[in-house]
Amino acid sequence: MDDRLLALCEISNDLLFEKIPKGKLAYYVDHSLKAGRNAAEGLKGREIHEIYSENCITVAKHAPQKSSFGVILRGMATMSEKGCSIEVYGDSVRELAKYAGMDYGLAERVHLAHELFHFLEYKRGRSFSDELEKVVTVRIFGYSRKAKINRCEEVAAHAFAKEMLDLPCLPNYYDYLYLVGAGKMTREALDGKLRVCSDMLNAA
Ligand SMILES: [Zn+2]
Repeated sequence: MDDRLLALCEISNDLLFEKIPKGKLAYYVDHSLKAGRNAAEGLKGREIHEIYSENCITVAKHAPQKSSFGVILRGMATMSEKGCSIEVYGDSVRELAKYAGMDYGLAERVHLAHELFHFLEYKRGRSFSDELEKVVTVRIFGYSRKAKINRCEEVAAHAFAKEMLDLPCLPNYYDYLYLVGAGKMTREALDGKLRVCSDMLNAA
């Protein structure tokens, strides 16, 4: 599965997606993928738990939280001056592993690698997405309001995890496999989404 296609699937979930000019889609896709890959340089192939302990990030395992309102919750990340911790909801990670056809350890590392990207951005004190062009959300008379596309952060975190763990595709694909496998999304809906995003990419 193509990285750019899966990246666009992720960005298409952004609340401001419709505000992105069609000619700019490739810009957000490519910059986000590049940011994630660049951040993985020098860390690729290293043991994720080792990087966590070097950075004093604690990993706590918890039972999953019930009401997640359709959002896939594999854990929670808390980042503050006092310290950083990542919670992992074991049952949720186990479900992902099952439907994505991978072992539990790898599914957990995928989650931890994704969160590590957010941690590195936090530690840096700025986000690559702040440097991306903002989209115009409101334009009234001579005045315009602009906002950033938050999902670009997610694309970069997926690309980072893919590089770190040498995965065959961006890991949001595993989320889709989970959604389809668990009956939360139909196969037709997924195929439809992939087709729409593929057409948009080809036109971009
Ligand atoms: Zn994330």
